[in-house]
Amino acid sequence: MEVATKRIPLSVPVLHGDEMRYLEECIRTGWVSHAGPFVARFEEELAKAVGMPYGVATSSGTAALHLALIVAGVGEGDAVIVPDLTFVATANAVRYCGADPVFVDVSPDSWQLDGEKVAAYLRDECVLRDGAPTDRVTGRRIRAVLPVHVLGHPVDMDPLREIATRYKLVVIEDATEALGASYKGRPAGALGDLGCFSFNGNKIITTGGGGMIVTDDRGLAERARHLSTQARDDPLEYVHREIGFNYRLTNVQAAIGLAQLEHLAEHVDRKRAIAARYAAALEGARGIVRPVEAAWARSTFWLYTVLITAAAARGSRDVIARLAADGIEARPLWVPLHEQPPYRSSRAYRVENARRLHEQAVSLPSSVDLAADDQDRVIASLRAAVS
Ligand SMILES: *Cc1c(COP(=O)(O)O)cnc(C)c1O
Repeated sequence: MEVATKRIPLSVPVLHGDEMRYLEECIRTGWVSHAGPFVARFEEELAKAVGMPYGVATSSGTAALHLALIVAGVGEGDAVIVPDLTFVATANAVRYCGADPVFVDVSPDSWQLDGEKVAAYLRDECVLRDGAPTDRVTGRRIRAVLPVHVLGHPVDMDPLREIATRYKLVVIEDATEALGASYKGRPAGALGDLGCFSFNGNKIITTGGGGMIVTDDRGLAERARHLSTQARDDPLEYVHREIGFNYRLTNVQAAIGLAQLEHLAEHVDRKRAIAARYAAALEGARGIVRPVEAAWARSTFWLYTVLITAAAARGSRDVIARLAADGIEARPLWVPLHEQPPYRSSRAYRVENARRLHEQAVSLPSSVDLAADDQDRVIASLRAAVS
């Protein structure tokens, strides 16, 4: 008789706090939609967790990015620097504004946006027009840089901030995977002008679906909030002087988010413990490169991702298939964005590492409640697949 083995998912939410109690409160009081006390509480507590004074909750991380770009002044004819290796939502938000991404390569060891290449792009590929960097080929003005803390490891932000100051670029962090991470002791999401988060089902904390902008600029926060509620100027007459969006989070979602947020530190600690356990078990394993954490970084290890190097057996896709056959969900990193059909006409600058990472990377199960037995199964299956 065969024993059915439990499937081990990549990353699933863990809802073991006050979610149910807060949801009951929503239903009992009738506050289920966009008004209600949990939205403000969630905004306040999340901003506090990141050390920023203002939080604006949104219906998704993508909506947060879109609004952040708009309030940063990104519009038609502009360009925004984006890493080539990230989830497509980052670039899509740029396109929603009528702007175009410029894809810059990631560094080979941190896998994060390469600040030296950003500097080289601005120096060699742009001319200054009215003091603003303008791409020589496309004629687009570079308005902002959008670093993404991929997999929860912070981007090296100090050099990037210096470049941004020199070229008057707004810095918008996509800190979705790095909620609870820090850079030189400072929280991810609070390292730029605006920080964006997603609370989709597989993120560090979830609201089912949702997002947040954090900032220390009151004007930007107010404008983002205004645009998220259909830019309604008059609550009685419903006067609208510009086009807004229906991008608000609901009270029900915020209730879940608040309960989740109360366990943020624990979620990050668990992810880091899972990563440490993988790292110890895979030490010295031939053909497997483990992720690094820079001396100045505290990563969330949102997903523990290894590289399967060419010398080792049959490549990452075979490893993923082998894990799948053992009931284990693993996944490659994203296709480099400049290769995605909607972005083939966008600028890509010196992209060398993103493709290799896409070919070699395998993300392993990293749910907060991953049991030690299950993790051992993943490790054994991975070792067998590579040897
Ligand atoms: C999940 C994710 C997003 C999108 O967030 P949604 O809430 O799904 O819209 C954006 N950027 C990164 C890096 C993400 O991981």
